[in-house]
Amino acid sequence: MNLEAPVNTLKGIGEKTAAILEKNGIKTVRDFFYNLPRDYENFQAPTKISDIQPGKVVVKGKIDSLSTRRTSRRGLTITEGIIRDNSDVIRVVWFNQPYRAKQFEQGKEYYFTGSYDFKNGRYQLTSPTAVLATDIDQTTNAFQPIYVAHGSLKSRDFQRLIGNSRALIADVPDLLPLVPSGERRDALFNIHFPETEKDVKTAREYLAYEELFELILAAKLNKLENQKLQAVSVPFKVDVIKAFVDKLPFALTNAQRLAAWEIFQDLEKSVPMNRLLQGDVGSGKTMVAALAAYAVSSAGFQTALLAPTAILATQHYENLSKTLAPFNIKVALLTGATKNKPELKRQIKAGEINLVIGTHALLTDDTEFEDLALAIIDEQHRFGVEQREKLVLKSPKGKAPHLLAMTATPIPRSLQLTIFGDLDVSILNELPKGRQKIDTKIIAEVNQKDLLYPKIRETLSAHHQIYWICKAIDSDTATSITSVKERAKKLTKLLPNAKIEYLHGKMKPAEKDAVMGRFANGEIEILVSTTVVEVGVDVPNATLIIIEDAENYGLAQLHQLRGRVGRGSAKSDCFLLTSGENAPSRRLKELEKSTDGFYLAEVDLKLRGPGEIYGNLQHGALDLRIATLSDTKLIAKARRDTDTLLQNPENMLKYTELMSNIKRYQQLTTLN
Ligand code: ADP
Ligand code: MG
Repeated sequence: MNLEAPVNTLKGIGEKTAAILEKNGIKTVRDFFYNLPRDYENFQAPTKISDIQPGKVVVKGKIDSLSTRRTSRRGLTITEGIIRDNSDVIRVVWFNQPYRAKQFEQGKEYYFTGSYDFKNGRYQLTSPTAVLATDIDQTTNAFQPIYVAHGSLKSRDFQRLIGNSRALIADVPDLLPLVPSGERRDALFNIHFPETEKDVKTAREYLAYEELFELILAAKLNKLENQKLQAVSVPFKVDVIKAFVDKLPFALTNAQRLAAWEIFQDLEKSVPMNRLLQGDVGSGKTMVAALAAYAVSSAGFQTALLAPTAILATQHYENLSKTLAPFNIKVALLTGATKNKPELKRQIKAGEINLVIGTHALLTDDTEFEDLALAIIDEQHRFGVEQREKLVLKSPKGKAPHLLAMTATPIPRSLQLTIFGDLDVSILNELPKGRQKIDTKIIAEVNQKDLLYPKIRETLSAHHQIYWICKAIDSDTATSITSVKERAKKLTKLLPNAKIEYLHGKMKPAEKDAVMGRFANGEIEILVSTTVVEVGVDVPNATLIIIEDAENYGLAQLHQLRGRVGRGSAKSDCFLLTSGENAPSRRLKELEKSTDGFYLAEVDLKLRGPGEIYGNLQHGALDLRIATLSDTKLIAKARRDTDTLLQNPENMLKYTELMSNIKRYQQLTTLN
């Protein structure tokens, strides 16, 4: 059995199907077998309606009193009805699925699978799937996997296709050391063709372990490989640094001092630094970066700082040139909008520039350095693997640059020790002196008039500025979400004298920079924006942030957004707007309670499900398909087992598939 064989060698997969699969990343037999169900539908034991509890449920019954209406305010289609079995009835509701009104045959029984919960003042089954009861045969298809649809291939097609390969799975070879033979193939078989919930549970546990084992082994090998690389040793000159620090406009926090000191120690070594600087929002990471860049520049080497957006690169450029220029450090900005790039690139190559700040434009092949000793990556999760690698290639003379990755997404301590235990980490867990706590309030729509608008007027008359965050750029009648454009219009009507503009990710870079520039220098009073301002933007005069449709964001993201205010000495506020139709989620309540990013990260870890830990913020960076990062026991076991394997690294060589599988993770977790 060759897991590397192309997917079209499998029975029933022709050219056309293979093309769709390949487009969706399913290229080999292995990819196909590891395309795991996203969920299951279990018709084996439907719940009696009289016994129903909130949560995911399956009920079997007949439907009646179906009716469809449109809501006037938001233009939603609502199809409602009653499901009845011989014990009781429940209400069922579908949103924007008008075809449901005609789907059902009178008097016939169906299985309904969906979520039963309290909405709009009553319990209801929301948007369930429906299957004709006579289509289900208890002995063959009562427990069914559901696959993510890809293009024209629906879940049913995946069921059929994997069914064709049923016998082949028995030939899947073992993968991991220290695991009983056959466990892998049993797990793959049971995940696709389970008979009971327990089959799925056991299979998932093995597959999660496999995934964690690969991830952790990759991280450890990275560390070993990093230690073999050569870096420029940057001497640590205490006096030079001290003279610099003494002239700064403010005293460093203790956390900044400690982090900088750890970095200086690393820079002196001839093994490349591989350090993650984790700082809560507003903790002053940029200043730590400035210290590192100063140490490198004053020793005669170059630094590159990569930012995820042009807005941030420009902001860093402005701040850092102000800080560093008096010390004869030459700072340059290189983004897509930079004029006369060839001349700038010549200067970089000639070593005339000490610190280059830029976006992806920095990574084009013709940007070369004279003596790149340090690469700083702000918000590293925004960069892809290839981009990180390109940067490494820019260091001439066969030396790898020291790497400092900065992130404002605190990684929960429990994870740091397990998954990221092989990275060196510095933490800024302290805010600069004189900051006041940000007050956070959840506000339902009906209370906006009384609570929100007075605050807006008060903020404007104090000459402070406001962010108003919306989820969408343009209006879409299918959802109830207010777009930036709509909101800016409404606010302009309401506050005709205020200077209001909007900002979103689809604007041209130069336009974005211009708007951001006007906000930074106070020309704009209210900035209505999407989450493009989520990370890093620093306008200390902004003291109020309003996050509309707050329930639509993850906890970490909300914390980031809130961190746009509270960056100066004035008191700041954050308002989380909700429709008020449901009680606020635990996420919002935790946010109301705490401004500690490290605490919130732990809460987030507990609240989220498999693979979702990093949600929007870290997607792609740790793409676990099945493992739950909160499963600390399984992680600990995988760590122990990888240690055992690494005691005799030569043993690894015989695990050829494992070695080639982990390349994927080695790229993803490597910083060097
Ligand atoms: P973040 O860690 O969120 O990237 P920044 O580096 O943007 O934070 O810093 C936030 C603000 O705090 C900036 O305006 C910066 O000038 C200021 N700042 C940084 N360090 C200190 C300090 N030690 N004392 C006072 N203000 C500081
Ligand atoms: Mg920052």
